[in-house]
Amino acid sequence: MLKGVAASPGIAIGKVHVVKSHQININTEVIAQDDTDAQIKRFDEAIAASKLQIMQIKEKAEKELGTDEARIFDAHFMVLEDPVFLDEVKAKIKTELITADNAVSHVVNNYVDIFSNMDDEYMKERAADVKDVGDRIIKNLLGIPTESFFFSEEVIIIARDLTPSDTAQMNKDKVLAFATDMGGRTSHTAIMARSLEIPAVVGLVNATDKVQDGDIAIVDGNKGIVYINPDETILKEYEKLKQDYLEYRKNLRELKDLTAETRDKLRTVELAANIGTPRDVKGALENGAEGVGLYRTEFLYMDRDELPTEEEQYKAYREVIEKMAPRPIIIRTLDIGGDKKLPYLDMPEELNPFLGWRAIRMCLDRPEILKTQLRAILRASVYGKAKIMYPMVSGLEEIRRANAVLKEAKEELKAEGIPFDENIEVGIMVEIPSAAVIADILAKEVDFFSIGTNDLIQYTLAVDRMNEHISHLYEPLHPAVLRLIKNVIDASHRAGKWTGMCGEMAGDTWATAILLGMGLDEFSMSASSIPQVKNIIRTLTYEKAKQIAQEALSMDNPEDIRNMVKREMEAINLPM
Ligand code: PEP
Ligand code: MG
Repeated sequence: MLKGVAASPGIAIGKVHVVKSHQININTEVIAQDDTDAQIKRFDEAIAASKLQIMQIKEKAEKELGTDEARIFDAHFMVLEDPVFLDEVKAKIKTELITADNAVSHVVNNYVDIFSNMDDEYMKERAADVKDVGDRIIKNLLGIPTESFFFSEEVIIIARDLTPSDTAQMNKDKVLAFATDMGGRTSHTAIMARSLEIPAVVGLVNATDKVQDGDIAIVDGNKGIVYINPDETILKEYEKLKQDYLEYRKNLRELKDLTAETRDKLRTVELAANIGTPRDVKGALENGAEGVGLYRTEFLYMDRDELPTEEEQYKAYREVIEKMAPRPIIIRTLDIGGDKKLPYLDMPEELNPFLGWRAIRMCLDRPEILKTQLRAILRASVYGKAKIMYPMVSGLEEIRRANAVLKEAKEELKAEGIPFDENIEVGIMVEIPSAAVIADILAKEVDFFSIGTNDLIQYTLAVDRMNEHISHLYEPLHPAVLRLIKNVIDASHRAGKWTGMCGEMAGDTWATAILLGMGLDEFSMSASSIPQVKNIIRTLTYEKAKQIAQEALSMDNPEDIRNMVKREMEAINLPM
């Protein structure tokens, strides 16, 4: 039995195919001065061959996986066409008198180092893209054949790591599961497995050393476990677990068009999706989202040299609003700062960026940025149901000042004769403890609250949400967090307003019953979590949920709360 990271749920049992990693022997000899041109020619030919291969793989990926998934190959193409990269390799060949393969290896490793040392988890994983392209160029230089991923029978793939080009070449109907030595939950293997809806376990360290082609394996993507050549008892047990899991997913799929109503029909809540770009709408609808509870607009501002124009923003917002109509879309205004910086905005170096010049604070200092965004949202609002949400509000004054900018934007549009939704709802994220404590004061000034637990937990418990050394202290079920949430919901209801939640806790099945029982009105989460949360809500009665919430609020530590939730869930046949 090998233990790794559960990267994609489900259970697979089958024959193993081990992906061998070819030995790559780089020629590190010094070359003669007059050999440099020949090396540069080799390099150019390898680049041309790599481009051709990537183009073919991309075409195949588009057919098999769809345009969105195939987009990763655009990143590969960009590397192959990047003049800085190409010139750097050629300069190295000339000045250091080394072979083309040696030069590529040096330059690529340098980029991989830079990416892997970045704080951002996403950028870290992008190091894999660069390495993938680099390996391809080197293999083409050395004439090493690329592995065949065409399978004639069903297989479980076990590899050191799977690159995007590996997975794109597979005939997926024969692939039962992935298990890799490397990788985390955001690695390519993991993302690919989730989008293919096949089980995956990653980070197994040395699985490839322990298996051979034709061995029998069990991949348990729910628990993050892989068995190699298991005995009869374990095989039998897993045949049953696999059937149960398939049945469970089938039932979840049938919930897609049903409402999130409790079994006693006494309470219905809204289940919405968090999205980052218009591309995410598809997944939201497929999982039965009844709206978008958080549209993070930061991506519109990132990876570019200047602020996005009103027109660009308007187009993106309109696309989301139209595609989701008549469902409500909550568009959050720019939440930049903290770990997300914009190079063109001249943002200060800060000792505590998460407590610094960010989000609404920055927008109120640069109201022209906020106004452009609000004008774009207002213009798009006539195409469906949009709502505006301000991030990182700490007190009353910020809401009033942001609303003053909104008023100006509305007056401008009116004067220009441009239509917009005059009654557009305006809410705030409650993600700073001060806002949660004075929720009764703020409720009078807004139409709704959405609790941002990702930040609320980090600020309440003083636990950096990105710091892996203290991640065990990051506890959504901490009594202080639960009391704040309860306070916010109650304050909004007393003022006749509603409260949603768009932090990760909204999709955390340990918290579902408690939040439902506390009276949370809307749960917004990653689209793929919606079916399981809906299942819990539809299985519970409102009475039971209220009792679970009350009990949780009376307890003095998270462990007791988890034990109680586990007991209650098991009693209604929902094992945790
Ligand atoms: C939050 O803080 O809970 C939230 C949803 O916002 P973000 O994760 O974008 O900070
Ligand atoms: Mg936040």
